[in-house]
Amino acid sequence: DPELSGEFSRFMTWADDLRTLGVRANADTPEDARQALEFGAEGIGLARTEHMFFGDDRIAKMQRMILADSEEERRDALEALLPFQREDFAGLFQAMKGRPVTIRLLDPPLHEFLPHDAEEQEVLAERLEMPVRRVREKIEQHAEMNPMLGHRGCRLGVTHAEITEMQARAILEAAIDVSTDDAPVRPEIMVPLVSTKAEFDHQRSVIDEVAAAVFEERGKEVQYRVGTMIEIPRAALRAGEIAEAADFFSFGTNDLTQMTFGFSRDDAGRFLPYYVQENLLPADPFQTLDQEGVGEMVSIGTNRGRKVKPKLQVGICGEHGGDPASVKFCHDTDLDYVSCSPFRVPIARLAAAQAVTEDDR
Ligand code: PEP
Ligand code: MG
Repeated sequence: DPELSGEFSRFMTWADDLRTLGVRANADTPEDARQALEFGAEGIGLARTEHMFFGDDRIAKMQRMILADSEEERRDALEALLPFQREDFAGLFQAMKGRPVTIRLLDPPLHEFLPHDAEEQEVLAERLEMPVRRVREKIEQHAEMNPMLGHRGCRLGVTHAEITEMQARAILEAAIDVSTDDAPVRPEIMVPLVSTKAEFDHQRSVIDEVAAAVFEERGKEVQYRVGTMIEIPRAALRAGEIAEAADFFSFGTNDLTQMTFGFSRDDAGRFLPYYVQENLLPADPFQTLDQEGVGEMVSIGTNRGRKVKPKLQVGICGEHGGDPASVKFCHDTDLDYVSCSPFRVPIARLAAAQAVTEDDR
């Protein structure tokens, strides 16, 4: 009903006038980005890059990169992926027309890109012109007993800096291509799964070096920022020193919940409903932020970070960013924005406005 939607959008404008908390969306395709804008998102708070490698034309290159025998071979495979990534990021920047876009470097363990089915492994071996036995051996080397605590996030970028280099280059080249005087693109590059300042420093220097090279080659610069996910309890505790080097923080409350409780993200569908039913937990902590424990990690991280950098931009991009009670918590903790799935953006806008009306109670 167009009339209803007119009234609804007027009502939402009032909510927007009231709220002080920003609302961004988690989006990694131009379609999702446009959807997010229609729902009123002010930017992209999290563009996950892992899904970008699964397309038919990319996955083979990704697998070649992962199973390469030398850094040189890995670099060749990454070079073949660079144009795809440049196009991915340009699409997001174009859709967002100069609004903030936070792009997260590759996060999942690499085995997620490899085939585990025997037949698919044979196809891969043929494509790589490698004996099947050798391919299976290599895939085995990438197996992880505990993948969420394993070789993922910035740990990949530390051991394989060339992955970070390729992604940083794609982001910065796309930003230069899409930038106009009216709508300059100022990408926010986000490092996942940091637990020490040394890891962040490592990734930041890789990115800064790439930026200097790209700006020199192109004879043009863009403003970019490098920040970090705070999603490991240690990072929240050491937020003071990490803030010395990071331009922004974004709390990954999915992993932070997992690692603070020691619950696997897969437990959400297993015994956690029983915990809720028996009142051992007030709610599923992967849906509604556990304010007493995980929330304390968020407050500690924010306060320690801002003590060092008073204007540090702080957001959250876990599932909680679209949950009303958690949005209120983020408002009360003085975060700059929440970022959630596009379809939850209207709820987050309303919850952020409601939080203001409850401020002085
Ligand atoms: C998180 O951990 O909260 C997060 C946003 O990242 P992902 O869900 O991709 O691990
Ligand atoms: Mg995470």
